[in-house]
Amino acid sequence: MFNGAILVGASERQGGEPFFAIDPSTGAKGEVAFHNASAADVADACALADAAFESFSTLTPDARAAFLEAVADRIMAIGDLLITTAMSETGLPRGRLEGERGRTVGQLRLFAGYVRQGDWLDATIDKALPERQPLPRSDLRRVNQSVGPVAVFGASNFPLAFSVAGGDTASAFAAGCPVVVKGHPAHPGTGELVARAIAAAVRDSGLHEGVFSYLPGTTNDLGGALVADPRIKAVGFTGSRGGGLALMKIAAERKEPIPVYAEMSSINPVVLLPGALAARAEALGTAFVGSLTLFSGQFCTNPGLVIAIDSPDLDRFVASAAQALSGNAAQVMLTPGIHAAYEKGVAALAGAEGVTTIARGMAADGVHRGQHALFAASGEQFRANPALAHEVFGSSSILVKCATIEEVIDTIARMEGQLTATLQMDDGDQADAAKLLPTLSRKVGRVLANGWPTGVEVTHAMVHGGPFPSTSDGRSTSVGTLAMMRFLRPVCYQDMADAVLPPALQAANPWKLNRRVEGRLEIAR
Ligand code: NAP
Repeated sequence: MFNGAILVGASERQGGEPFFAIDPSTGAKGEVAFHNASAADVADACALADAAFESFSTLTPDARAAFLEAVADRIMAIGDLLITTAMSETGLPRGRLEGERGRTVGQLRLFAGYVRQGDWLDATIDKALPERQPLPRSDLRRVNQSVGPVAVFGASNFPLAFSVAGGDTASAFAAGCPVVVKGHPAHPGTGELVARAIAAAVRDSGLHEGVFSYLPGTTNDLGGALVADPRIKAVGFTGSRGGGLALMKIAAERKEPIPVYAEMSSINPVVLLPGALAARAEALGTAFVGSLTLFSGQFCTNPGLVIAIDSPDLDRFVASAAQALSGNAAQVMLTPGIHAAYEKGVAALAGAEGVTTIARGMAADGVHRGQHALFAASGEQFRANPALAHEVFGSSSILVKCATIEEVIDTIARMEGQLTATLQMDDGDQADAAKLLPTLSRKVGRVLANGWPTGVEVTHAMVHGGPFPSTSDGRSTSVGTLAMMRFLRPVCYQDMADAVLPPALQAANPWKLNRRVEGRLEIAR
């Protein structure tokens, strides 16, 4: 169950300003009073995380992997209460939340397997060359080590997979970093249930209580204090551009600045190439609307921009998309605030110079339901007004009509960084695709062919990141095992006695790691 507690290590605290969950499908206030964590809670959680760091960061890969699996098991053990609580706090349907829970525990287990493998340590050895002339070379051994306690901020749109035990927490734990989570106020019961599951896994695994703390709250000040605490050494954030930028500023102004890995806004351009349009304009129109309206478009990978060369085939796409959209019911949005921001963003687009409305979805038949929207503008209008490229979080998209492939490339070249770009292409479009790719790949973290950007696999090769402002640091990803690298840093040991080296670098290779010796990979097993 949940009772509105603040979890500071193993202790449960109450107190602080109360707040309540809102069921967005009805606007009804929940019965449980949740409590805002205080500045003292932040300081205590960070002190505990700091105290836990040494023992947690030096666990064997096997022990750390077993902890990740224990977290996954504890989350599954919550049972249906987790799903029903999340349904009532987010308006998301059961099937979606069950799928998201599967993804969340699958992600923890994927990290467990990867941690055991040990390649992420990147153990690298250049042996001493005592006879080298004119000077001998020292023995140099490098390994990746945990950065320190990590602050995690989840987003409202993934109450499980991008929240308390989401990708940021899983990757920080995998990297050996204690985690302090700022709980998202939009799903406090869900957050607390998962937080209790993690705390139980910490206990079951015999780890230091400071490995995990959970600080719920509704104020920017709480998150700001967490990022400012000197014991926090990195931040994982998923959410709005405004929130990410505010936390980046606090982190940069600290006495010791720290990295903030913020996953923020993106409108994920989809380019419809002529061959694909000629072959399947109608099918593309309906599939596009399916991706745009999925869960009311509340995805960071929502296709908020379509770019194509104007033609009769594009008219067929527009007619098909308009028909599909206008029959599509308005869906409950995550929070009253997100719904209000969506309506404001759509009204601004509808009233912008040179923008026409292609279609709207069905009108809302209840509170906090977003009515889908599709707009159009010329390439010239779109490039002239940067506001048209701002994310409207929800199922709103704009079709930009260009005259030539060169204009498409120019339009993309002027865009901000994005998480994804998608090409709808047939074999005859390969020459255009080859022209586009160098520009596209400079702008995004993932380029898709003939798919839709909504839907992000959790794998080793996935990149869910991209140049600013889609993320604060385009060299990273927040999804997939590569996400661990954000919370590791290389340390080189020079001429250190074997017995005191980290196990990953010792001569006997006790963890049986694949290691790079004199630049060549040596496979241990
Ligand atoms: P949000 O309002 O930015 O909230 C995220 C978290 O940050 C909350 O805990 C919030 O708590 C905190 N926060 C926000 N502003 C803050 C500030 N100025 N100072 C301190 N803390 C602050 O985001 P959201 O509405 O939940 O999520 C929707 C957004 O996330 C969309 O824009 C979506 O595109 C984006 N998103 C991006 C990705 C990605 O991977 N790129 C994935 C999912 C979602 P308080 O409000 O209590 O301070």
